[in-house]
Amino acid sequence: MDYSFSVRIPAPNRSITMENHIIILGAGVTGLTAARYLQDQGRKVTLLDKGRGLGGRVATRRLGEASNIQGRWDHGAQFATFRDPDLIEHLKKWDSWECMKPWIPGHQNPTLYRQRPLAGMNALAKALATGLEVHRSQQIERIEKAAGGWKLTANSGQIFTAPHLISTIPLPQFHELARNSHLDLTPGEQEKILSVRYDRCLTLLAETDGPSGLAAPGFVQVQNGTIETIIDQHQKGISSAYTLVANATPAFSLEWFRRDRDLAATLLRASLQERIRSRILSVQIHGWKFAKATRRIDANFLRLANDIALAGDGFSAGTPDTSPDLPARIESAMLSGVFAAKTFAPLPSA
Ligand SMILES: Cc1cc2nc3c(=O)[nH]c(=O)nc-3n(C[C@H](O)[C@H](O)[C@H](O)COP(=O)(O)OP(=O)(O)OC[C@H]3O[C@@H](n4cnc5c(N)ncnc54)[C@H](O)[C@@H]3O)c2cc1C
Repeated sequence: MDYSFSVRIPAPNRSITMENHIIILGAGVTGLTAARYLQDQGRKVTLLDKGRGLGGRVATRRLGEASNIQGRWDHGAQFATFRDPDLIEHLKKWDSWECMKPWIPGHQNPTLYRQRPLAGMNALAKALATGLEVHRSQQIERIEKAAGGWKLTANSGQIFTAPHLISTIPLPQFHELARNSHLDLTPGEQEKILSVRYDRCLTLLAETDGPSGLAAPGFVQVQNGTIETIIDQHQKGISSAYTLVANATPAFSLEWFRRDRDLAATLLRASLQERIRSRILSVQIHGWKFAKATRRIDANFLRLANDIALAGDGFSAGTPDTSPDLPARIESAMLSGVFAAKTFAPLPSA
């Protein structure tokens, strides 16, 4: 299967009014899943994302163009585990299941796998995005109630208006956006949204001169105060080059998030070098302000009194089993997107 982009990229226009459309804010796996579901129901959907690419935290970076070796890092999520039969059926229908390949079996349930696409995790997002209308590089700075429903203004100056809105951006980001937009939230809604907590994560992307020597299958949990996990991207099967990802611990990430990134990278590099056989040739560092939700709202999604629907990994949608053995964050986020989407489908009769 070809996983190259086939999303529709609309022509630039300062103000776009979309009658009968549902705007989905955020083209991560939650937004993409909600969009595919709604499109299946005959609804018109438009996704807006501030990123240059798609997928949010389901992110894959390539080794520089200068290199003639196929090198990649998954620098966000490393794998997904799917348990929900209905979601799996949808993924099959959307040609998004075939790319997922078993990687590490669960300890408690060896029939369930951590799965990843061999082209990197972002291939899942690209497969989900097929045929969807996505406006990229549109950071939404303001949401207002308008005659046509909701008016969203991007930092590019572009304005999008549509009757319905689903937001899938991390809930602390939505709270900030709502505050800056002077949107009314009830005290109960405020309390729920503000209860959600995320860990930060500093992620080191390293290229080395040979095999790391890490035990198969190349996913190592470290307890040293600096690095939490090391993931051998070559052993994982997504990179011909010898590439490694090292995720810093939440404590290290919090302490260093706003400090000198080069120095943080140097410390992480030294810690990583101690644990591998090969020599590190180069490193890059990436900071995730909202990495993994550590406290979520105990609901599938939230429909606000003003009619905006909120979905994403800030909700505990789907299977309650999120054991560290096989966390189901991606699956849970996607299910949250489906639950939110269901409240907008099918099209109300005129
Ligand atoms: C380092 C790391 C490792 C992880 N490992 C795993 C793992 O192995 N397995 C697992 O299941 N989960 C893992 N996770 C968690 C998983 O990646 C997330 O739970 C999931 O991807 C969330 O998807 P989402 O669509 O809800 O949010 P996101 O992926 O964050 O998507 C939200 C989108 O909204 C966009 N956006 C935000 N604000 C605006 C704005 N104002 N205007 C326009 N667009 C905006 C963003 O650009 C983004 O694309 C990991 C996360 C990190 C960071």
